[in-house]
Parts: sequence; structure tokens; C-alpha cells
Amino acid sequence: MSDILSQLWTPELQMAVTVCIVMLVAVYVLSIIWVVRDAYQRGTVWYIWAIVALVPILGVIAYCLLRPPLLQIDRDEQELEVALKQRQLMQYGECANCGYPVEADYVLCPNCHQRLKNQCQKCGHALDPSWTVCPYCATPLPGVGARRSGRTTGAPRQAVPQANVGAHGQAPRQ
Ligand SMILES: [Zn+2]
Ligand SMILES: [Zn+2]
Repeated sequence: MSDILSQLWTPELQMAVTVCIVMLVAVYVLSIIWVVRDAYQRGTVWYIWAIVALVPILGVIAYCLLRPPLLQIDRDEQELEVALKQRQLMQYGECANCGYPVEADYVLCPNCHQRLKNQCQKCGHALDPSWTVCPYCATPLPGVGARRSGRTTGAPRQAVPQANVGAHGQAPRQ
């Protein structure tokens, strides 16, 4: 019996078995490292999972089944996105004058009659004060600057283009 074994136990077989063992140990160690890193990134108690991962094969399988579904970074990002969306809603959400809830295309505040947007003379759509053309019917909107300055200070019309040029940092024409 031992003769047969010693005949089978050739140097080639020894080599193959050694390589297999080294590979298995490497996979085992790497799986533990992966579990620790993943658990840490997911914001869980990583050292408990490291102990679980010490159980060969079963530990890693248990971690894959039971790990928290979302990465901590992703969760932070999602919360940030929700907060940003809420802020955007707030921008359109209420009248700047009285705080009454308004829709994005309201022209007047229904509560205090504050003018929220300008209105296209041709198609009647609500227009942002900074637009120079109506995006719905392509009507150019002349006098936007005049209307803007009229709303704020009531400055004379001729002063408006000069003020705009100055604001863009361009040298005035001579
Ligand atoms: Zn209002
Ligand atoms: Zn229009």
C-alpha cells in the first residue's frame, strides 16, 4: 500500500499540490481583505465581519448575503441629491414677496399680486426676466434691459446698454 502511495507521490504531483494549496491560501487571504475593505466602505463594524470572514468559504458567502445593500458614500450622495432637489423646488415653490406657494409658470402671485415673471405678448407664456427671446414662439423680446432697470431703479433708458457693457467687462466703443 505504502509502495503504491510512494510511487504515486511523484515530484510533479507534489508540485501540483503545493501550487493548489498556495492558490487556496491566497484566495482565502484576499477574500478576508475584500470583506474588511467592503465592510469598511459600507460603514459597518468591519472587524466583526473580519472575524466572520475567517471561516473559510462560508464566511465570505455569509458576508455576501448579509452585507448592507448600499455603500456609505452612495448613501451620502443620495441624501445630497435629495437636498438639492428640495432646494430647487423651493426656488420655484414660493412667492419671493409673501411666501405663498406658486408654480414655475405663474406670472403673478395669486396671493399678493407680486409680478413673478414677464409674459410673452404673442403667445402668453411666462418668461424669465433674463431671457431675450421667447423660447416658445421665438419672438424677440426687445427692451428686456429697460424693463429690468425699470423694475429695480427706474434709471433712464440710455444708461442701460452702457451699464450692461460695463458688467460684462468689455471696453466701451469710442
Ligand atoms: Zn405673493
Ligand atoms: Zn412667445
